[in-house]
Amino acid sequence: MNSAPMFRKVALIGFGLIGGSIARGAKSLGLAGEIVTTARSAETRARVRELGIVDRVVESNAEAADGADLVILCIPVGACGDVAKEIAPHLKHGAIVSDVGSVKGAVVKAMAPYLPEDVHFVPAHPVAGTENSGPDSGFAELFINRWCILTPPEGTNAEATEKLAAFWRALGANVEIMTPEHHDLVLAVTSHLPHLIAYTIVSTAEELEGVTQSEVLKFSAGGFRDFTRIAASDPTMWRDVFLTNKDAVLEMLGEFQEDLSKLTRAIRRGDGDALFDHFTRTRAIRRGIVQIGQDEAAPDFGRRHKQLGKAPE
Ligand code: NAP
Repeated sequence: MNSAPMFRKVALIGFGLIGGSIARGAKSLGLAGEIVTTARSAETRARVRELGIVDRVVESNAEAADGADLVILCIPVGACGDVAKEIAPHLKHGAIVSDVGSVKGAVVKAMAPYLPEDVHFVPAHPVAGTENSGPDSGFAELFINRWCILTPPEGTNAEATEKLAAFWRALGANVEIMTPEHHDLVLAVTSHLPHLIAYTIVSTAEELEGVTQSEVLKFSAGGFRDFTRIAASDPTMWRDVFLTNKDAVLEMLGEFQEDLSKLTRAIRRGDGDALFDHFTRTRAIRRGIVQIGQDEAAPDFGRRHKQLGKAPE
């Protein structure tokens, strides 16, 4: 437990996977004197009250933001502009306003025009998540050893940026600062394109003629099931990501299609050397991710295997 909280009042607008994980982490570490939250629906607000993690659950975004030292929007990217407009008149002088959106350029564009000059706007994106959403899905350890990218607009107060960075570091994250444009390009290839590919493969398999759906499910351990985790991600969140990071995603999709064409050609021509070289390079990337601690070295994502000779459970 910290002796003095970093912020007197923290407002989390939205309490799903990310808002709920911040709340759980900040509460257990004592990072805030008071954590106040709200969510769009009465149903989620009632569930958050039941969970008893935060100090207060209020009925409106304005009420949550009122007098808060740190306000974090933990809602879909497409909703950030409207919420910024709604909370703007209630923001305290000197407050830090942030978000957790997976796209940064569009969020900055949507929120900045509404925010008063006497608050510090420091957009953020914790690059951590799971395929689950909603108030029960969060956990305090989500951000440990993951990266949180801050994209403060030019001229942002350095002290405010550092204060938010310290908050994220306390939650276990490493912090990096970059421009919103660069963030959107990097995330287009490391996150948005992989999600699009997973969404595509899973629906292709679902619509196949000549292979039944039960066969697809039954034999999914051949590789398919690893894509289904990503393709189970929240439809609202991902709709908004592709609507708001259109240019960077289209650029990366163009690169991907070229590479796919090269592999298609190698398969058609029976060019084993080209395929072998390609797969050797990609294997090295996986090893690199494990080496820098962004995944476990355990084979098959660490899944536990049943023991031989034991009756299946
Ligand atoms: P989530 O679990 O679905 O929670 C979203 C929260 O936002 C809920 O409390 C929801 O309230 C509220 N909300 C939804 N639409 C709203 C609207 N129009 N106005 C106000 N509140 C609204 O989502 P999440 O996974 O935490 O994602 C939240 C943000 O984090 C997104 O911007 C996403 O891009 C970003 N992010 C997600 C991940 C990930 O892996 N999931 C990772 C990094 C960043 P109700 O429950 O009442 O509908």
